[in-house]
Amino acid sequence: MPELPEVETVRRGIAPVLEGARLERVEILDPRLVRPFDPGLVAGELTGERVAAVGRRGKYLLVRFASGRSLLIHLRMTGSLRHAPRGMLAGDRYTRAVLGLDNGADVAYRDVRRFGTWELLEERELAPYLAARLGPEPLGALSAKRLGGRLTGRRAPLKAALLDQRTVAGLGNIYVDEALWQSRLHPLRPAGGLDGPELARLHRAIRSVLRKGIERQGSTLRDYALPDGASGTMQDAFHAYGRGGEPCDRCGTPLVRITVAGRTTTFCPRCQRA
Ligand SMILES: [Zn+2]
Repeated sequence: MPELPEVETVRRGIAPVLEGARLERVEILDPRLVRPFDPGLVAGELTGERVAAVGRRGKYLLVRFASGRSLLIHLRMTGSLRHAPRGMLAGDRYTRAVLGLDNGADVAYRDVRRFGTWELLEERELAPYLAARLGPEPLGALSAKRLGGRLTGRRAPLKAALLDQRTVAGLGNIYVDEALWQSRLHPLRPAGGLDGPELARLHRAIRSVLRKGIERQGSTLRDYALPDGASGTMQDAFHAYGRGGEPCDRCGTPLVRITVAGRTTTFCPRCQRA
């Protein structure tokens, strides 16, 4: 599932194609993408909009139009965006929507498992929509102190609290496992129980693994691909995620796999003590 670095990489790939372009033709081929709204009506609303900027908040892509409206795209499990000259993206049965731009490019949204969503919001709706769902951006003004404030009093396991998008936005299973390994914190520690140095380590680790993920253009697992069809290389730099049974890169102890909040979680039983 794409997390912050993967979504940011998609944003960087697609922004130069979309920014400044007008949507000349909009086809929404899968009604699930925009439900409960009618795909024909949403396509009609989008047609004629000019893209002012492509932003990101947490795992949402924000296509902001000159009119003030925004299209929020969430890729969920397997969503991706591709761009190519007009007509070159035809014939893929997993294409769920196509934007025909006035600059001659087509942008196609592809989604094998169909959990992704497109939501068109009016200008006044955007800030409350995001505020209700997302905590601070981890690569923005988030300080260790503010992170501590988001965790204070919480008895949920640290891993579960970090997967909650309202704690900090954009983390998922991959980057939480990596950040906990780097900060040497056990995934089942009560989220509210970290001391000052531990919080500082966690804060630094979260930012560092996300930055590294962006540098490597995300991780390529299953269906994730960049808008130009290339793929990221973060999977070659994982220390914890998906490495159960392999030796810890720090101490050589075999990494252990457990389930936390319904998600497979990999950690080092020696470096990350309970
Ligand atoms: Zn270790």
